[in-house]
Amino acid sequence: MDASVASKLESRMTLEEIEEIVRKLPREPIGFYPTPFHKAKNISKKYGVDIYLKREDLSGPSAFSGSKIRLAEFVIGEALRDGVTHILTVGAYLSNSAGQLATAAIQSGLTPILFLYDTMGEGYPAKWRANLLLDKILGVETYLFPRNPDEPQEKVWKDTLYPAVEKKAAELEAQGHKVLFAPAGATHPSSFPAHVLTYKEIMDQSRELNFKPDYIYHTTGTGSVLPAFAAARLLTDDTCAIRSIAINSYRPDNFVNTGMIADRVREIYATVGRTPPSDNEILAEFDIDQRFIGPDYAVPSPEGVAATRELASLDGIFLGPVYTAKGFAGLLSHIREGRIAPGSKVVFVHTGDTNNLFEDPRITGQLVD
Ligand SMILES: *Cc1c(COP(=O)(O)O)cnc(C)c1O
Repeated sequence: MDASVASKLESRMTLEEIEEIVRKLPREPIGFYPTPFHKAKNISKKYGVDIYLKREDLSGPSAFSGSKIRLAEFVIGEALRDGVTHILTVGAYLSNSAGQLATAAIQSGLTPILFLYDTMGEGYPAKWRANLLLDKILGVETYLFPRNPDEPQEKVWKDTLYPAVEKKAAELEAQGHKVLFAPAGATHPSSFPAHVLTYKEIMDQSRELNFKPDYIYHTTGTGSVLPAFAAARLLTDDTCAIRSIAINSYRPDNFVNTGMIADRVREIYATVGRTPPSDNEILAEFDIDQRFIGPDYAVPSPEGVAATRELASLDGIFLGPVYTAKGFAGLLSHIREGRIAPGSKVVFVHTGDTNNLFEDPRITGQLVD
């Protein structure tokens, strides 16, 4: 037996064993789990592929439901253990993660503070809308950062947003408060194992429906779902393939890239007490399709608009324009390209984002004629 096969066998775990360890980590119950799982019947029939939806968009407990609630449970769990008083987080003004973390923090008696930038570079909406409206209703302290539309979106982070976070954190700490900073997408290290639980729910729920998934598709952005799914698949040596549709670039110098996702996989291995595979083996796990980003993050794509209308009109299910519409468009395109054989069993992880349907048409695209 060669050394890499031997070490893989040694590291192997069942999902039950992994779950037992993850469940012992600090965690505050916020969402309603397991989230629902069901077949999208009519679109499955149309495409000749069985498409099941894992409904992380219905994780609860409010209009800010989505895939970040699982992360928030771990982030808040650690914050409460460590005596944190304030949770500072960052994102776009239409951020799903900032809103979900804010609701979770409020529920747990902590004070959230949000630092959000304007993706469109138009100044701020004269009338509050969609997620930003919800942030306002929550009464959360929110700082808004305009950006120059001629410059890359990332520039505002470095120039104004991060310095403001640092200043605020220093002020709060000088007053005797304790601050936890959750990076974009709530990707605080405490949350890295969270979506291992989603993966296990998918495997349990598909078994209850008497099938085994051939593919799991999801929309990838700040990189919390992907490392957890990759680690779970590698640790269990499962045959199911994970395919990720990106909504932002994974170029090596970007704020998220495959090297960082690999680091998170290794951190999950450390959490469960196993030796991680080689860099090459981890990187070989990632199958990230970057063709569906569209013009930029939070700028609509024609494929995303078409996918939203198609799933809504066939099965009565809504996707969101910034994330899940682009992810689902990638899945449909893979079926059309023959990258998914007819009759395959596919799970699409619906991570949320439907509030962004109530955004400006410059974010949603032309959804109605
Ligand atoms: C954050 C987010 C994603 C991206 O998930 P990551 O695990 O951070 O890559 C996808 N869909 C929605 C709706 C999100 O809010």
